[in-house]
Amino acid sequence: MPAPLRLRLDGDALVQNWRTLDRMSGTAACGAAVKANGYGLGAIEVANRLADAGCRDFFVSNWQEAAELAPLGLTVSVLHGVREEDMPAAAAGFARPVLNTPTQVARWKGTGGGACDVMVDTGINRLGVSVDDIAAGLLDGLQIETLMSHLACADEDVPMNAEQRDRFAALAGATAAKRMSLANSAGIALNGYAFDLTRPGLALYGGVPRAGLADAIKFVVTIEAQILQCRRVRAGQTVGYNAIWTAPADTEVAILNLGYADGYFRGFSNCGTASAGGIAMPVIGRVSMDLVAIDVTSVPAVHEGTWLALDFALPDAAAVSGMSQYELLTSLGGRYSRVWR
Ligand SMILES: *Cc1c(COP(=O)(O)O)cnc(C)c1O
Repeated sequence: MPAPLRLRLDGDALVQNWRTLDRMSGTAACGAAVKANGYGLGAIEVANRLADAGCRDFFVSNWQEAAELAPLGLTVSVLHGVREEDMPAAAAGFARPVLNTPTQVARWKGTGGGACDVMVDTGINRLGVSVDDIAAGLLDGLQIETLMSHLACADEDVPMNAEQRDRFAALAGATAAKRMSLANSAGIALNGYAFDLTRPGLALYGGVPRAGLADAIKFVVTIEAQILQCRRVRAGQTVGYNAIWTAPADTEVAILNLGYADGYFRGFSNCGTASAGGIAMPVIGRVSMDLVAIDVTSVPAVHEGTWLALDFALPDAAAVSGMSQYELLTSLGGRYSRVWR
Protein backbone atom coordinates (compact mmCIF):
# COMPACT_ATOMS: atom_id res chain seq x y z
CA MET A 1 0.00 0.00 0.00
CA PRO A 2 1.39 3.44 -0.83
CA ALA A 3 2.52 5.09 2.38
CA PRO A 4 1.28 8.62 3.07
CA LEU A 5 4.66 9.68 4.40
CA ARG A 6 8.18 8.94 3.32
CA LEU A 7 11.82 9.37 4.13
CA ARG A 8 14.01 10.40 1.24
CA LEU A 9 17.39 8.89 1.97
CA ASP A 10 20.47 10.09 0.13
CA GLY A 11 22.69 7.06 -0.41
CA ASP A 12 25.47 9.17 -1.93
CA ALA A 13 25.55 11.41 1.13
CA LEU A 14 25.68 8.34 3.39
CA VAL A 15 28.64 6.92 1.47
CA GLN A 16 30.37 10.30 1.30
CA ASN A 17 29.99 10.68 5.06
CA TRP A 18 31.58 7.27 5.56
CA ARG A 19 34.45 8.13 3.21
CA THR A 20 34.96 11.44 5.05
CA LEU A 21 35.05 9.68 8.42
CA ASP A 22 37.33 7.00 6.97
CA ARG A 23 39.74 9.70 5.78
CA MET A 24 39.55 11.46 9.15
CA SER A 25 40.36 8.12 10.80
CA GLY A 26 43.82 8.24 9.20
CA THR A 27 45.47 4.83 9.12
CA ALA A 28 42.68 3.31 11.22
CA ALA A 29 39.94 1.37 9.49
CA CYS A 30 36.49 2.93 9.66
CA GLY A 31 33.52 0.75 10.62
CA ALA A 32 29.87 1.61 11.01
CA ALA A 33 27.38 1.44 13.87
CA VAL A 34 24.13 0.20 12.31
CA LYS A 35 22.27 -0.64 15.51
CA ALA A 36 18.66 0.48 16.02
CA ASN A 37 17.85 -0.34 12.39
CA GLY A 38 20.70 1.77 11.05
CA TYR A 39 19.69 4.66 13.34
CA GLY A 40 16.19 4.46 11.88
CA LEU A 41 17.16 4.55 8.21
CA GLY A 42 17.10 0.79 7.60
CA ALA A 43 20.04 -1.38 8.64
CA ILE A 44 20.14 -3.59 5.56
CA GLU A 45 20.06 -0.70 3.08
CA VAL A 46 22.71 1.18 5.06
CA ALA A 47 25.00 -1.80 5.52
CA ASN A 48 24.77 -2.80 1.86
CA ARG A 49 25.78 0.67 0.70
CA LEU A 50 28.63 1.00 3.17
CA ALA A 51 29.92 -2.50 2.41
CA ASP A 52 30.01 -1.59 -1.29
CA ALA A 53 31.99 1.53 -0.36
CA GLY A 54 34.57 -0.60 1.47
CA CYS A 55 33.36 -0.65 5.08
CA ARG A 56 34.30 -3.96 6.69
CA ASP A 57 33.24 -3.72 10.35
CA PHE A 58 29.62 -3.35 11.46
CA PHE A 59 28.24 -2.91 14.96
CA VAL A 60 24.77 -3.75 16.26
CA SER A 61 23.37 -3.95 19.78
CA ASN A 62 21.83 -7.39 19.92
CA TRP A 63 21.54 -10.73 18.16
CA GLN A 64 18.17 -9.95 16.60
CA GLU A 65 19.79 -7.04 14.83
CA ALA A 66 22.72 -9.24 13.85
CA ALA A 67 20.39 -11.94 12.51
CA GLU A 68 18.70 -9.39 10.30
CA LEU A 69 22.06 -8.60 8.69
CA ALA A 70 23.14 -12.26 8.46
CA PRO A 71 22.10 -12.69 4.79
CA LEU A 72 24.57 -9.95 3.80
CA GLY A 73 27.54 -11.99 5.00
CA LEU A 74 29.27 -9.05 6.69
CA THR A 75 31.55 -8.92 9.73
CA VAL A 76 29.19 -7.92 12.50
CA SER A 77 29.98 -7.34 16.17
CA VAL A 78 27.22 -7.48 18.79
CA LEU A 79 27.89 -4.72 21.29
CA HIS A 80 25.79 -6.16 24.13
CA GLY A 81 27.68 -9.45 24.18
CA VAL A 82 26.08 -12.84 24.80
CA ARG A 83 23.41 -13.81 27.23
CA GLU A 84 22.74 -17.50 27.75
CA GLU A 85 19.69 -17.11 25.47
CA ASP A 86 21.94 -15.77 22.71
CA MET A 87 24.33 -18.70 22.60
CA PRO A 88 22.53 -20.60 19.81
CA ALA A 89 22.62 -17.50 17.63
CA ALA A 90 26.25 -16.89 18.52
CA ALA A 91 27.10 -20.50 17.66
CA ALA A 92 25.61 -20.00 14.20
CA GLY A 93 28.58 -17.76 13.46
CA PHE A 94 26.97 -14.87 11.58
CA ALA A 95 28.34 -12.38 14.10
CA ARG A 96 30.70 -12.27 17.03
CA PRO A 97 30.02 -10.95 20.51
CA VAL A 98 31.64 -7.98 22.19
CA LEU A 99 32.18 -9.50 25.63
CA ASN A 100 31.39 -7.02 28.40
CA THR A 101 31.42 -8.88 31.71
CA PRO A 102 33.39 -11.64 33.44
CA THR A 103 30.23 -13.79 33.17
CA GLN A 104 30.10 -13.29 29.42
CA VAL A 105 33.80 -14.08 29.16
CA ALA A 106 33.31 -17.31 31.13
CA ARG A 107 30.29 -18.22 29.02
CA TRP A 108 32.25 -17.71 25.82
CA LYS A 109 35.31 -19.62 27.05
CA GLY A 110 33.03 -22.40 28.30
CA THR A 111 31.81 -23.23 24.83
CA GLY A 112 35.27 -23.18 23.29
CA GLY A 113 34.97 -19.55 22.35
CA GLY A 114 36.20 -18.52 18.97
CA ALA A 115 36.65 -15.05 17.59
CA CYS A 116 35.23 -12.31 19.80
CA ASP A 117 35.68 -8.68 20.69
CA VAL A 118 35.97 -7.27 24.19
CA MET A 119 34.75 -3.99 25.66
CA VAL A 120 36.83 -2.50 28.45
CA ASP A 121 35.44 0.28 30.61
CA THR A 122 37.75 3.28 30.82
CA GLY A 123 35.41 5.60 32.67
CA ILE A 124 31.92 5.70 31.17
CA ASN A 125 30.83 3.03 33.67
CA ARG A 126 28.34 1.54 31.31
CA LEU A 127 29.37 -1.72 29.65
CA GLY A 128 32.76 -3.36 29.79
CA VAL A 129 35.21 -5.40 31.84
CA SER A 130 37.54 -3.43 34.08
CA VAL A 131 41.19 -2.64 33.51
CA ASP A 132 41.88 -4.54 36.74
CA ASP A 133 40.08 -7.63 35.39
CA ILE A 134 42.39 -7.55 32.40
CA ALA A 135 45.48 -7.18 34.58
CA ALA A 136 44.25 -10.19 36.59
CA GLY A 137 44.22 -12.33 33.45
CA LEU A 138 40.46 -12.43 32.74
CA LEU A 139 41.01 -12.35 28.99
CA ASP A 140 43.83 -14.88 28.84
CA GLY A 141 43.18 -17.54 26.23
CA LEU A 142 40.50 -15.57 24.38
CA GLN A 143 40.72 -15.12 20.64
CA ILE A 144 40.16 -11.36 20.57
CA GLU A 145 39.76 -9.55 17.29
CA THR A 146 39.17 -6.07 18.67
CA LEU A 147 39.61 -4.61 22.13
CA MET A 148 37.34 -1.60 22.38
CA SER A 149 36.32 1.08 24.80
CA HIS A 150 33.80 3.91 24.58
CA LEU A 151 34.16 7.63 25.22
CA ALA A 152 31.70 9.31 27.58
CA CYS A 153 32.14 12.93 26.46
CA ALA A 154 33.64 12.93 22.97
CA ASP A 155 31.20 15.68 21.94
CA GLU A 156 32.68 17.99 24.59
CA ASP A 157 36.13 19.41 25.26
CA VAL A 158 36.83 18.00 28.68
CA PRO A 159 39.88 16.37 30.32
CA MET A 160 37.99 13.08 30.58
CA ASN A 161 38.58 12.41 26.87
CA ALA A 162 42.35 12.30 27.20
CA GLU A 163 42.07 10.39 30.48
CA GLN A 164 40.03 7.66 28.79
CA ARG A 165 42.36 7.61 25.79
CA ASP A 166 45.43 7.24 28.00
CA ARG A 167 43.84 4.49 30.10
CA PHE A 168 42.94 2.67 26.88
CA ALA A 169 46.33 3.22 25.23
CA ALA A 170 48.00 1.68 28.29
CA LEU A 171 46.28 -1.62 27.41
CA ALA A 172 48.21 -1.97 24.15
CA GLY A 173 49.89 -5.35 24.25
CA ALA A 174 48.09 -6.32 27.47
CA THR A 175 45.72 -8.63 25.58
CA ALA A 176 45.84 -10.81 22.50
CA ALA A 177 43.64 -8.33 20.61
CA LYS A 178 44.61 -7.78 16.99
CA ARG A 179 43.15 -4.30 16.93
CA MET A 180 42.10 -1.53 19.31
CA SER A 181 39.08 0.73 18.83
CA LEU A 182 37.89 3.74 20.83
CA ALA A 183 36.31 6.48 18.72
CA ASN A 184 32.67 7.02 17.85
CA SER A 185 31.68 9.84 15.46
CA ALA A 186 32.63 12.62 17.84
CA GLY A 187 35.82 10.77 18.82
CA ILE A 188 36.95 10.77 15.19
CA ALA A 189 36.88 14.56 15.27
CA LEU A 190 39.26 14.54 18.25
CA ASN A 191 42.90 14.13 17.31
CA GLY A 192 44.71 10.94 18.18
CA TYR A 193 41.77 8.81 19.25
CA ALA A 194 41.44 6.55 16.20
CA PHE A 195 43.73 3.63 17.21
CA ASP A 196 43.16 0.80 14.64
CA LEU A 197 39.41 1.00 14.01
CA THR A 198 36.77 3.70 14.43
CA ARG A 199 33.03 3.13 15.01
CA PRO A 200 30.98 6.07 13.75
CA GLY A 201 27.21 5.99 13.84
CA LEU A 202 25.52 9.38 14.09
CA ALA A 203 27.72 11.27 11.62
CA LEU A 204 27.18 8.63 8.92
CA TYR A 205 23.51 9.54 8.99
CA GLY A 206 23.99 13.32 8.86
CA GLY A 207 24.35 14.00 12.58
CA VAL A 208 26.87 16.58 13.73
CA PRO A 209 28.10 15.75 17.25
CA ARG A 210 30.91 18.34 17.21
CA ALA A 211 30.87 21.71 15.48
CA GLY A 212 34.12 20.77 13.73
CA LEU A 213 32.25 18.17 11.69
CA ALA A 214 29.55 20.55 10.44
CA ASP A 215 31.15 21.34 7.10
CA ALA A 216 32.30 17.79 6.42
CA ILE A 217 29.03 15.93 7.03
CA LYS A 218 26.17 15.86 4.52
CA PHE A 219 22.53 15.52 5.42
CA VAL A 220 21.07 12.15 4.53
CA VAL A 221 17.43 12.21 5.70
CA THR A 222 14.51 14.26 4.42
CA ILE A 223 10.99 13.80 5.78
CA GLU A 224 8.10 14.25 3.39
CA ALA A 225 4.43 14.06 4.19
CA GLN A 226 1.28 14.55 2.18
CA ILE A 227 -1.37 17.22 2.71
CA LEU A 228 -4.66 15.68 3.85
CA GLN A 229 -6.67 18.89 3.98
CA CYS A 230 -6.29 22.59 3.22
CA ARG A 231 -8.37 25.18 5.01
CA ARG A 232 -8.55 28.92 5.53
CA VAL A 233 -8.36 29.85 9.21
CA ARG A 234 -9.86 33.23 9.95
CA ALA A 235 -8.04 35.84 12.03
CA GLY A 236 -8.57 35.11 15.72
CA GLN A 237 -9.30 31.39 15.27
CA THR A 238 -6.97 28.77 16.71
CA VAL A 239 -5.41 25.57 15.35
CA GLY A 240 -4.90 22.23 17.03
CA TYR A 241 -4.95 20.77 20.54
CA ASN A 242 -5.05 23.24 23.39
CA ALA A 243 -5.41 26.09 20.89
CA ILE A 244 -1.81 27.21 21.35
CA TRP A 245 -1.74 29.04 18.00
CA THR A 246 -4.06 31.87 17.09
CA ALA A 247 -4.25 33.22 13.54
CA PRO A 248 -2.99 36.83 13.51
CA ALA A 249 -4.67 37.26 10.10
CA ASP A 250 -6.57 35.01 7.72
CA THR A 251 -4.20 32.09 7.14
CA GLU A 252 -4.05 29.24 4.62
CA VAL A 253 -3.39 26.06 6.58
CA ALA A 254 -2.39 22.61 5.36
CA ILE A 255 -2.82 19.55 7.57
CA LEU A 256 -0.07 16.99 7.03
CA ASN A 257 -0.15 13.26 7.55
CA LEU A 258 2.68 13.21 10.13
CA GLY A 259 2.97 13.43 13.88
CA TYR A 260 4.84 12.51 17.00
CA ALA A 261 4.09 8.82 16.44
CA ASP A 262 6.39 9.19 13.43
CA GLY A 263 9.15 10.82 15.45
CA TYR A 264 8.05 14.30 14.51
CA PHE A 265 7.96 15.30 18.15
CA ARG A 266 5.80 17.76 20.06
CA GLY A 267 8.87 19.97 20.48
CA PHE A 268 8.30 21.06 16.89
CA SER A 269 4.93 22.56 17.91
CA ASN A 270 4.88 26.22 16.81
CA CYS A 271 8.63 25.85 16.01
CA GLY A 272 9.24 23.45 13.12
CA THR A 273 9.21 24.37 9.45
CA ALA A 274 8.28 22.75 6.19
CA SER A 275 9.58 23.99 2.88
CA ALA A 276 8.69 23.97 -0.78
CA GLY A 277 10.75 25.56 -3.53
CA GLY A 278 13.05 27.16 -0.97
CA ILE A 279 10.20 28.89 0.87
CA ALA A 280 9.93 28.09 4.59
CA MET A 281 6.48 27.49 6.01
CA PRO A 282 6.01 27.38 9.79
CA VAL A 283 4.50 24.55 11.78
CA ILE A 284 1.59 26.08 13.67
CA GLY A 285 -0.05 24.76 16.80
CA ARG A 286 0.66 21.56 18.63
CA VAL A 287 2.00 18.52 16.81
CA SER A 288 -0.57 15.70 17.18
CA MET A 289 0.08 11.97 17.12
CA ASP A 290 -0.50 11.68 13.37
CA LEU A 291 -1.10 15.24 12.17
CA VAL A 292 0.64 18.55 12.01
CA ALA A 293 -0.58 21.93 10.70
CA ILE A 294 1.50 24.15 8.41
CA ASP A 295 0.97 27.80 7.49
CA VAL A 296 1.11 27.62 3.70
CA THR A 297 -0.08 31.17 3.03
CA SER A 298 3.20 31.97 1.27
CA VAL A 299 2.91 29.01 -1.12
CA PRO A 300 -0.46 29.24 -2.85
CA ALA A 301 0.28 26.34 -5.20
CA VAL A 302 -0.10 23.63 -2.57
CA HIS A 303 -3.31 21.63 -2.41
CA GLU A 304 -4.77 18.44 -0.99
CA GLY A 305 -2.37 15.65 -1.95
CA THR A 306 0.75 17.83 -2.29
CA TRP A 307 3.88 16.43 -0.62
CA LEU A 308 5.76 18.83 1.65
CA ALA A 309 9.27 18.39 3.04
CA LEU A 310 9.82 19.03 6.73
CA ASP A 311 13.10 20.72 7.67
CA PHE A 312 15.11 18.03 9.39
CA ALA A 313 18.74 19.20 9.29
CA LEU A 314 19.73 17.35 12.45
CA PRO A 315 21.62 19.97 14.50
CA ASP A 316 18.90 22.56 13.81
CA ALA A 317 16.06 20.10 14.28
CA ALA A 318 17.55 19.01 17.62
CA ALA A 319 17.88 22.61 18.79
CA VAL A 320 14.31 23.43 17.75
CA SER A 321 12.67 20.31 19.17
CA GLY A 322 14.68 19.82 22.33
CA MET A 323 15.46 16.23 21.31
CA SER A 324 18.95 14.88 20.66
CA GLN A 325 20.01 14.17 17.09
CA TYR A 326 20.18 10.49 18.08
CA GLU A 327 16.58 10.51 19.30
CA LEU A 328 15.35 12.24 16.17
CA LEU A 329 16.92 9.61 13.91
CA THR A 330 16.12 6.51 15.90
CA SER A 331 12.49 7.53 16.43
CA LEU A 332 11.67 7.65 12.73
CA GLY A 333 9.05 4.97 12.78
CA GLY A 334 7.63 2.21 10.68
CA ARG A 335 4.99 4.26 8.86
CA TYR A 336 7.38 5.85 6.39
CA SER A 337 8.28 4.34 3.09
CA ARG A 338 12.06 4.64 2.90
CA VAL A 339 13.06 5.83 -0.54
CA TRP A 340 16.77 5.70 -1.41
CA ARG A 341 18.48 7.55 -4.16
C1 LIG B 1 26.44 3.55 19.25
C2 LIG B 1 27.89 3.29 19.46
C3 LIG B 1 28.83 3.87 18.62
C4 LIG B 1 28.49 4.92 17.59
O1 LIG B 1 28.37 6.16 18.27
P1 LIG B 1 27.99 7.52 17.53
O2 LIG B 1 28.04 8.54 18.61
O3 LIG B 1 26.62 7.35 16.98
O4 LIG B 1 29.00 7.75 16.46
C5 LIG B 1 30.16 3.47 18.78
N1 LIG B 1 30.52 2.60 19.75
C6 LIG B 1 29.63 2.06 20.60
C7 LIG B 1 30.09 1.12 21.65
C8 LIG B 1 28.29 2.40 20.50
O5 LIG B 1 27.41 1.88 21.37
